[in-house]
Amino acid sequence: MASHLTPAVYAKLCDKSTLKGYTLDQAIQTGVDNPGHPFEISVGMVAGDEESYEVFADIYNPVIKERHNGYDPSTMKQQTDLDASKIRGGEFDEKYVLSSRVRTGRSIRGLSLPPACTRAERREVERVVIDALTGLRGDLAGKYYSLCQMTDKEQQQLIDDHFLFNKPVSPLMTCAGMARDWPDARGIWHNNEKTFLVWINEEDHTRVISMEKGGNMKRVFERFCRGLQEVEKLIQEKGWKFMWNERLGYILTCPSNLGTALRTSVHVTLPHLGKDPRFDKILDNLQLQKRGTGGEDTAVIRNTFDISNLYRIGQSEVQLVQTVIDGVNYLIECEKRLEKGQDITIPVPIRQFK
Ligand code: ADP
Ligand code: MG
Repeated sequence: MASHLTPAVYAKLCDKSTLKGYTLDQAIQTGVDNPGHPFEISVGMVAGDEESYEVFADIYNPVIKERHNGYDPSTMKQQTDLDASKIRGGEFDEKYVLSSRVRTGRSIRGLSLPPACTRAERREVERVVIDALTGLRGDLAGKYYSLCQMTDKEQQQLIDDHFLFNKPVSPLMTCAGMARDWPDARGIWHNNEKTFLVWINEEDHTRVISMEKGGNMKRVFERFCRGLQEVEKLIQEKGWKFMWNERLGYILTCPSNLGTALRTSVHVTLPHLGKDPRFDKILDNLQLQKRGTGGEDTAVIRNTFDISNLYRIGQSEVQLVQTVIDGVNYLIECEKRLEKGQDITIPVPIRQFK
């Protein structure tokens, strides 16, 4: 945000607001409060409603372009592809991969996003989504657990087991206004096996997640596609729609999630490669991103990383999952070579829109 918000752009946009009253100053507050780090650049702005991306396009569009490998929302169109049968491979070596997960986000059209929603809108999101999810059947059938009705111990256990979002401690959550009224109308819905989960009212209205222990990403993605399509159908049957348009794809709170909102991740142990000075460059060239296993902004423990796709728009869901499958297999190959004392090469960067 800071690198694109020139005085001229600010002057042009500062007096505008969306119909729901969201302003530029609100959109950039998180970046203003957290100027960031010269090497670990984050987005620095969020959206308060669907219309924000249109009214303030002069700042969002260049931010989106820089964040997503050159994707230009003013000229390009986003594709959705949830056909899991197109995936090649997808069963990782479980000596290295401990767990596999695919998540996305979806927003309910007509209601403000978490940085700007009223308490009533937030409760409406919760009501609409739970109402729809009760229609899930078979292995997807489950139950809603509201944060307000959980004990601290139950909540902490779900966080420690990687099922539930963290407490709202991150600068993004607090400075962007997403922690208001916490924990009101927040919660998690999950099936019995805790392999299909829906978060309600964290950073987005909803996050839809498929996960399991081990390395079977193909199966995780199959369940993700099936569950997500079922959820969308149930929401539509209740008369609601997801925020979407063909240039931005699915509309989410953070510009980093526009398009597919897909983050396909593995927890993978890489004792040699993780310490190698070339690791960051390799990840970048493979269009991958690393986090700690506690999630965003957590430390890496015991050489185990959360590795996921870096971009979320400009490619379909199938393409992004394939990027992670191929990329993680490459990382494991590198790890095996380093174990044996052999050398590795840095892969050639894949650049899409430049
Ligand atoms: P998200 O992109 O879903 O918001 P975060 O980095 O905020 O991801 O992490 C949310 C939670 O999901 C954390 O508890 C994290 O440990 C868990 N998580 C992410 N990827 C995996 C994975 N592959 N296996 C197990 N847990 C995961
Ligand atoms: Mg998160």
